[in-house]
Amino acid sequence: MTLSDFHKQFPDEKSCVDYFKAQRLSTDLTCKSCSFKDFTFRNSKLRFYCKNCNKSFSLKSGTVMEHSNLSFMSWLFCIKYMTFTKKSVSALEMQRLLGFKRYEPVWFMMHKLRIVMGKRDALYELKGNIEIDEGFFERIDESSLDSKNEYNKEDDSSQKRGRGSQRQSKVLVMTESKKVKNKSEKNKHKPDRSVGYIKMIVMDDLKANSINKAVNENVDQHTEVLSDGYKGYAKLKEIIATHLVLVEPNKSKSAKQFPWVNRVISNSKKMLIGIHHNVINEKYIQNYFNEFCYKFNRRYFGNLLFDRLVVAAITNTWD
Ligand SMILES: [Zn+2]
Repeated sequence: MTLSDFHKQFPDEKSCVDYFKAQRLSTDLTCKSCSFKDFTFRNSKLRFYCKNCNKSFSLKSGTVMEHSNLSFMSWLFCIKYMTFTKKSVSALEMQRLLGFKRYEPVWFMMHKLRIVMGKRDALYELKGNIEIDEGFFERIDESSLDSKNEYNKEDDSSQKRGRGSQRQSKVLVMTESKKVKNKSEKNKHKPDRSVGYIKMIVMDDLKANSINKAVNENVDQHTEVLSDGYKGYAKLKEIIATHLVLVEPNKSKSAKQFPWVNRVISNSKKMLIGIHHNVINEKYIQNYFNEFCYKFNRRYFGNLLFDRLVVAAITNTWD
């Protein structure tokens, strides 16, 4: 599906409403008052009415769109574009594509979708063999750019770039990474390990107790975790089946032993600087990693990704 296919499928707001309605009805839609599961829908009000008790609720309620005044088409277009591009999209670019006068609603919409992506991936625990490493991400603290604005104008870097203070975020990176057996001649330039799911967790600190807490929440305990000799990993053996420590002082050799965490760190750094110019508020940086990991973890989904994100966005109760 391309963007022109999008406009064919969704030529107007009504087609978007119909699609949303159908998607919501395909989930386990239940009346909060009486638990009945059968509804009528009024197009004029965009509300569902319970066939048993007649209580009603809006098409948006309980979804990521709750409290949003943006059209259904704007949301679907944004979901389409965010899943369509391999790379990330800036809110400024999305604002241009949507033809909006205001930047903030677009920025909020995109962050809400990134939170949905994070919630979805949080349901999955990493399994098997896992590489773990810590990454340090430079960012320009937005609060020193414009303290009046609650939101982060991450794209407006042309004038403001460099004015904010340089900060660093610490990120724990974990990748499912299996040793490739009998690598063919054709693939000899590829890493010795193949990758599965990945996770990136923004950390307040990299002390052993904090790392253990993050690993405990995100990794199955029957795994084999591979790390370098950093002291923050010293207590991993208390919570997982096997902890292997590889101490390799030579940087390029060490990169080969941890091919996927290294790739994930360097590609996500490229995403942050290339699309968002590193002007990112600490409060929101996890969201960008959510998007990076969500798309990486579904890299073979192709066109299915759009529907998947829509379903995630309407079933994740928004709070
Ligand atoms: Zn009811």
